Amino acid sequence: MRPTTHTTRRNFLRTASITSAIFGAPAAQLTGEETRRAGQNGGRARNIIFMVSDGMNHGALSLAQHYLGRNGGQDTHWTKLYRDHPVVRCLAETYSANSLVTDSAAAASAWGGGHRVDNGRLNITPDGVPKAPLQTKLKQAKILTGLVSTATITHATPAGFAVTVDSRGKEEEIAKQYASHRVDVMLGGGRKFFNDELKSAMAKDGYEIFQSNADLEAASAATARPVLGVFAEGYLPYAIDRAAEESLQKKRPLLSEMARFAVDRLSALPNDGWFLMVEGARIDHCGHANDAAGSIHEQLAFDQAVGAMVEYVSGRNDTLLIVTTDHGCGGLQLNGGAGKAGQPMAPGIYGGTNEAFDHLRQFKMSLEGMATQAGGLSGPPLREFLKMHSGLELNDDEIKAVQGLKSHDLARVFATHHGVSWTSGNHTADLVEFCALGPGSQLFPAFVRNYEVHNLLLQAYGLA
Ligand SMILES: [Zn+2]
Repeated sequence: MRPTTHTTRRNFLRTASITSAIFGAPAAQLTGEETRRAGQNGGRARNIIFMVSDGMNHGALSLAQHYLGRNGGQDTHWTKLYRDHPVVRCLAETYSANSLVTDSAAAASAWGGGHRVDNGRLNITPDGVPKAPLQTKLKQAKILTGLVSTATITHATPAGFAVTVDSRGKEEEIAKQYASHRVDVMLGGGRKFFNDELKSAMAKDGYEIFQSNADLEAASAATARPVLGVFAEGYLPYAIDRAAEESLQKKRPLLSEMARFAVDRLSALPNDGWFLMVEGARIDHCGHANDAAGSIHEQLAFDQAVGAMVEYVSGRNDTLLIVTTDHGCGGLQLNGGAGKAGQPMAPGIYGGTNEAFDHLRQFKMSLEGMATQAGGLSGPPLREFLKMHSGLELNDDEIKAVQGLKSHDLARVFATHHGVSWTSGNHTADLVEFCALGPGSQLFPAFVRNYEVHNLLLQAYGLA
């Protein structure tokens, strides 16, 4: 049985010294922790909530913050976390084994299995050695695992914590491993990867199966049964599209709703602690598509979930909260502009920046949605369609440039109006935000490499 005592503020330093003796943490690190007020976070974690805004360039976090600031004056929950709580804030390196630029499979394997792997693989090292994922190790200590995602629940990021597979594309195999490893709570998209045979075997094994938002709303989180909730065949909808369409709101739950249900369900099951991964997956998809408004709405939906989880851990001394991203995607930034008539992005002293940025308020549809719904349109009907969904009236040259409705063409033209542009549609190599709040946070150094996080999680539980 692992230790269950929790440290008070008074004896944090003593615990830190013991931790240092056991784990060899350098004294300088502990001094640094003290200066970062981590003394208020002493002790070990019974539970861990690990939140991932997948593919979040720093620009995405910044834009969400600016957007809220200019539309009501609030801060995001993520920045409030930094202002109001004794959070340990780190810079994190995101490499995979074979590239400075990781994909989500290698990134999740680093966290979930403790080893760098090649892009595309899940917990199999470059020399072919399979590594046990976190869920397997935690299960041996009677610690439950929950996975929540707005992508398919079998997507690379959740999978990295619970399976060992040579290719992230094998989502049916990942679904089977989830069932055989008995992951306790799974909520997200990806219904198509759980065939009827698998679902009925899981039901026989005690799982509750949810296939719609109505199932989730009708269920009691306090029921002590494992659960699989798959609320769409593939991904859950983009937050910007869901907000604009009532039927999607009825059918698909929010990330914050799934996260809150997962916390309560894990707590209801008999346990010696639990681990919950919560992924806002589609920020990454907005990065690939270069969708600025989509990115803001997606990041804000993730942020709502951050708020819900901060609320849960506040006032408790047994749950470690981590908020981070696995890598950047797209390289978006708000660029300053002069705002001169007809030259919104001309250089100068940036007096037109705010007005340009405010155009993003008018966007009511993802770029993917625009491409799908405006399929055959051209000329004036296309101009009218884009005006209705973006608030922008494009000139003849601009309409010609976006004729094929490729998202990157739309993004390039829209950028000259709202000021947000991108370096590519690919992942990037940024050092990223990583923060920890609560018991165990004192273990995290100010600069952390992705594969080191795995062992630090185990240490936080008292298992390493
Ligand atoms: Zn991606």
